[in-house]
Amino acid sequence: MEKKYKLFINGVWVDSEDGSSIDVINPATGEKITEVSQASQNQVNAAVDAAREAFDRGPWSRMAPAERSNLLLKVAERIENKLQEYATIESMISGKTIKQSSNYDMPYIVDNIRYMAGTARNFEGKALKEYVPEGASTIRRDPIGVVAAITPWNYPLMEVIWRAIAAISVGNTVVVKPASLTPVTTLMLASDLEAVGLPKGVFNVIVGPGSSVGEQLAKNKKVDMIAFTGSTEVGKRLMELGSSTLKKVSLELGGKAPFIVFDDADVEAAVQGAVVGGLVNNGEDCANSTRYYIHENIYSKFLDALLRELRKVKIGNPLDETVDMGPLISESHRERVESYIRKGIEEGGKLTYGGKRPLSKGFYLEPTVIETDNNSSVIVQEEIFGPVWTVLKFKDYDEVIEKANDVIYGLGASVWTKDITRAIRATRDLSFATVWINEHVPVPSEMPWPSYKQSGSGSSLSTYGLEEYTYVKHVYFDISGATRKSWYYQVYGQK
Ligand code: NAD
Repeated sequence: MEKKYKLFINGVWVDSEDGSSIDVINPATGEKITEVSQASQNQVNAAVDAAREAFDRGPWSRMAPAERSNLLLKVAERIENKLQEYATIESMISGKTIKQSSNYDMPYIVDNIRYMAGTARNFEGKALKEYVPEGASTIRRDPIGVVAAITPWNYPLMEVIWRAIAAISVGNTVVVKPASLTPVTTLMLASDLEAVGLPKGVFNVIVGPGSSVGEQLAKNKKVDMIAFTGSTEVGKRLMELGSSTLKKVSLELGGKAPFIVFDDADVEAAVQGAVVGGLVNNGEDCANSTRYYIHENIYSKFLDALLRELRKVKIGNPLDETVDMGPLISESHRERVESYIRKGIEEGGKLTYGGKRPLSKGFYLEPTVIETDNNSSVIVQEEIFGPVWTVLKFKDYDEVIEKANDVIYGLGASVWTKDITRAIRATRDLSFATVWINEHVPVPSEMPWPSYKQSGSGSSLSTYGLEEYTYVKHVYFDISGATRKSWYYQVYGQK
C-alpha cells in the first residue's frame, strides 16, 4: 500500500488543494495504514467539469461500444492479474476476511466487469416498425451524461464497479466519491483505468466527507444523475438534493432480510445457510439474513444447531486464511451496533448468544443472537448493519409472510422449504426484490439487484442495471413523404 494516495481529476493525480487529508484506519488494529488527500470545493467542481467536458466533447460517449468494451476487458484482466493485491488491501481497509475478498469479492468483480463489457454491446429494444401507417418508429438508448457515483464502505470496490463502471460501460462519464473510510481500492482502480488508456475526464475520484464533499457533488447542476449506494437516510437526502435540477436518482439502500424456515425444510441446510447469510461480510451486508422466522415445530432444533455452528466461527485477523469473521468497520460503528444489542434486551429480547467484544484490539464483536416474539421491536425493525440477528417463532404461512413484510425495507429474503408450491407462493407474496429459495446470498452478474420499498429504486447488474444509466429515446421517421399528412385536419383545416 502507498503511504499517501492522491485524487484523480481529469486524468491527473492531484494533492489536496489545502493540504488536508483523511486517515485510513485498519479496523483489525485501530491503527492508521495510509492517508488520502481530501478534495476541496474547487476540486469537487473541477472533477464535475472534467466529466462534463469529457461527456460533451470527448470521444467516450460516441465511441463504438466494442471500443469501450475492449478497454473494460483490459481492466478486468489487470484486476485479475493483481487479484491478491486488491483482495489484501480491500481486507485491510474494510476488515472483511481475505477468504471472502480473494475467493468471492474480487473474482466476482472481474466477472461483473466482463459481463458489463459484453452486455453494453447488446442493447435490445423495439424493432423499427410502422406502428402507425405513415411513420416508422424505433428507440435509441443514450447515455445520461455525468453520473455522480457515491458509494459505501462495506463493498468498497464492488459498489464502484456496480455504479461507476456500469455507468461508463454505456458511455456516461463519472465522478466517484467513495466512502472516506475505504477509498484506497477505488483509487487503485482509477490507476488501472488510466493504465489501459481511458480518456481523461471519464472517471474521476474525489474523496471527502459525505456531509461536505458528497453534498456538493450531489448538488452540482452539471451532474445529470446520482447513483448512490448507502443508507436509506442518506438516500432520502440525495433525492432532495437531486430534485433542484430533477437529476435521475438511482438508490441502493438498507435492508433487513427475513430468513423463513418452514417445518418441512432440511434444518441442517437451513442452519448452514443461516450462518453464512448472517455472517457474510462480517454481518455488514445490506442483504444479510437478520430476522430468522422459524416454524414452532422445529424452533428448538434449529436454534440448538445454529448455536452449535456459531461456536465454531473463528474470529480474528481478517488476513488469516482460516478466519471466518473480521472486525467491524470502526469503533463508532461497533458502538452503534452494541447499542442495538442493549436496546433489544431492554425491549424484552433474550440474549441467547454473543454480544461481547472477543479481542482487546481492533473493532471486533461476537455474532449475536437475540430471541424475541415482538415483531415491532426496534431490533426487528431497524437495520443494525452488524452481526446481530433476531430469532422469532411462527405458526403458519400467512402469519410469517405478514411479519416478514412488516418492515420499511424490501431488498432480500429467503425461504427454506421442500414444498415447491409454498416456495412459489412465497416468491409472489414476499415484498422483497430478491427472493432465494433454500439459499441466501448469490446474485449472478446476469441477474438484477433491484430494490422494493425504502431499500431504494432502480437496479444494479444484469441488462436492467445497465439500462439504468441510459435514457430511452423514441425516434420517428415519416415514411409517407406527403407534404400534408392525412391526419393534419385533426389540428387545423379540413380532411
Ligand atoms: P452512508 O449512507 O453513511 O454513506 C454512503 C456514502 O454516502 C459514503 O460515501 C458517504 O460519505 C456518503 N454520504 C453520506 N452522507 C452524505 C450526504 N449528506 N450527501 C452525499 N453523500 C453522503 O452508508 P455507509 O455507512 O457507508 O454504508 C452502509 C449502508 O449502505 C447500509 O445502510 C447498507 O444497507 C447500505 N448498502 C446497500 C447496498 C444495496 O445494494 N442496497 C449495498 C451496500 C450497502
